[in-house]
Parts: sequence; structure tokens; C-alpha cells
Amino acid sequence: MILITGGTGFIGSHTALLLLENGYEIVIVDNFVNSSREVLKRLERLIGASIPFVELDLRDEEALEQLFMTYNIDSVIHFAGLKAVGESVEKPLYYYENNIGSTLVLCKVMEKFGVMKLVFSSSATVYGAPELVPIVENTPLHSTNPYGRTKLMVEEILKDLYISNPNWSIALLRYFNPIGAHESGEIGENPNGTPNNLMPYITQVAIGKRKELYIFGNDYPTMDGTGVRDYIHVTDLAYGHVKALEKLNKSTGIDAYNLGTGKGYSVLEVVKTFEHVTGVSIPYKFVKRRPGDIAECYADPSKANKELKWEAKKTLEDMCQDSWRWQKKNPEGFC
Ligand code: NAD
Ligand code: UDP
Repeated sequence: MILITGGTGFIGSHTALLLLENGYEIVIVDNFVNSSREVLKRLERLIGASIPFVELDLRDEEALEQLFMTYNIDSVIHFAGLKAVGESVEKPLYYYENNIGSTLVLCKVMEKFGVMKLVFSSSATVYGAPELVPIVENTPLHSTNPYGRTKLMVEEILKDLYISNPNWSIALLRYFNPIGAHESGEIGENPNGTPNNLMPYITQVAIGKRKELYIFGNDYPTMDGTGVRDYIHVTDLAYGHVKALEKLNKSTGIDAYNLGTGKGYSVLEVVKTFEHVTGVSIPYKFVKRRPGDIAECYADPSKANKELKWEAKKTLEDMCQDSWRWQKKNPEGFC
């Protein structure tokens, strides 16, 4: 059975669904700090069965031990974490305590119960402002904010863990920019308050919740001056976890993998594609650069293509279509 931490969150819920569809047994844990109970209901409706779920904070060691005693867990996908860069600058201790503290407790309990297969949600943010794109996994790591440093530190902790005991089998999955939603429109990204990320902001403009999109900078050294990112459909990303698990089941070790499409799109390209696919126009205004942003970030995903036998298949058009379907069906998110 696979333990999915943070399984009612955006990426966790899509991965949980895909695992269930592929016949895996799972148990989800979450404390709902950034998700809704409604996600579980939607997942159960989509799959037509009840899903084992335990509400707990991962830092609660006793509750986690109880969970490992109750369920026959053989591997863990660890999504749980806080992810807002701006908030991490304001509340660094909260971020370090939650993201690192929960991982320490999780690993301790895993070790105690002899569970040594772990997929960890890392991020392209561990590359900081890379000198070269596309980004390969052995690019020097560096982080510019507390959120990113929690990812970097957890990666280091997991490397030490493997050195201490080579029976561990760990995949560090460095996600690029996940967008899109399940094609049913039943689950998707549900940001609290004003979205920080581009796609949820665009869909909220499209549905009339926000007046216009503010594009952060049009003077970057990119094709049209706006920032370039590697957007990846959340379903493709979810599939990367299934492939990573297959690899962990075959060999021990610790490896990092970029999960991206390998193609960068500018903010203006995303806006134009969204307009083209949906027929809805997105008014926008250029404003100054967002502090900490980099010009270009896109993956070289060839290591994951080769070693995990995984590649992203969905197009930017698919991502826009599915993000829009989710937004239209759920104008107020999960409620
Ligand atoms: P999300 O906030 O939707 O999901 C994270 C889930 O973890 C939430 O449901 C939250 O309630 C839960 N959680 C947080 N702390 C917890 C704790 N102490 N105990 C139990 N549950 C806890 O985020 P997401 O977009 O699905 O991201 C999943 C993971 O991927 C995160 O670790 C995130 O940092 C990482 N990541 C996300 C992105 C992205 O753009 N979405 C990019 C790179 C990496
Ligand atoms: N962006 C923007 N307006 C917004 C949100 C984002 O212009 O309201 C830009 C941002 O500057 C970056 C790209 O869109 O170039 C992707 O931003 P996002 O926050 O989604 O991802 P990240 O910057 O974390 O990779």
C-alpha cells in the first residue's frame, strides 16, 4: 500500500486518482492546512469507491506511528508541505518547521517500520537562477527564498539518509510549473485568496473574478520580454510519480529527476494560447518585474525520459482547456 502525504492537495489528488485507476492501493493523509475535505468526496465519486484517509499533521509522530501500525505501507509519496514563496519570506520558521519537521518525522517513522521507498516533491526552485537552460539535474543548486531552501535542505537530508543506510530507495522529483486539471473538471488547483501563480490568475480573470492580469515585466531577455517557464500538465506530472515508484521497486539509491516538458513558454504565449483555446479574452497590463523572478526556466527532462521511461505528453492547449474547464465548473473552488 502506498502512503500519500498531502494527498488532498493539487498534485497529490491527481496522483492519488491515477494510482487508484492503475490498481494501486493507497492511503491518504492530510491536515487540510491548504486543501478541502471536498477533494476526498470528489475522488471517491470519480473512482466509485471509498478511499482510506487519515486526517493528521505529519509532525505528530505518535499519530503517524499509529498509521503505520494500521496500514501495510510499503512506499510513500511525500507531497505534504507549504508552498507559497512570499509567505515563506514572511514566516520562515513556519516553513522550516512544517516542511522540514514533517519530513524528519516521516523518515524516522518510515525507518522504524522498515519502509524505505520514498518519492519526494522537490521543485525547480532548487536551481535558483540557473546560468544555462535547459536545466540538467547536475546544475549547481541554490535557493533564493525560505520555501526553496526547505526543498534544498530536505534533498540534502535525504541524501544523508541514503548514505547512512543504502537500503533506501529515494526519488527527488523536481517539478517545473504544474498547471491544468483532471479532464473531468472535478479536481484542480484551488488557491486561497489572490493567486500567486499565472494560470489560476488567468482563469480568474477569464471568469470575471479579477479585472485584468498583471504581467510582471516585459523587459526580460526572452523572445517577447516576458518570463519563460516550463508548464506541465498536472496529469503528466502525476504519471511521473507512478513511473518513479516503478523504478524504486526495482533498485535502491537516490536520484533527482526533472519533471518538465522541456519546452519554455512566455507569459504572453500562455495568454494567447488560453485566449485561442477558450475564446475568452484576457485583458492584461505590464507592471514591473516581481522580485526574485528569473527570466527563463525550463527543463532538460531527458534523465526522466530515459531512466523512468516517462515523458510529458499534453500540450499547452490541453493545459489551458483543462484549467478553464475546472475553473468554469467550480467558480468558487471546492465548496
Ligand atoms: P498543495 O498545497 O495543494 O498540497 C499540499 C498538501 O499538503 C495540502 O493538502 C496541505 O493541506 C498538506 N499539508 C501541508 N503540511 C502538512 C502537514 N504538516 N501535515 C499534513 N498535511 C500537510 O500543493 P501542491 O501544489 O499539490 O504541491 C505538492 C508538493 O509539491 C508540495 O510539497 C510543493 O512544495 C511541491 N511543489 C509544488 C509546485 C507547484 O507549483 N504546485 C511546484 C514544485 C513543487
Ligand atoms: N506571472 C505574471 N503575473 C502573475 C503571475 C505570474 O506575469 O500574476 C509570471 C511570472 O512573472 C513568471 C510566470 O508568470 O514569469 C510564471 O509565474 P508563476 O508564479 O506561475 O511560476 P514561477 O514564477 O514560480 O515559476
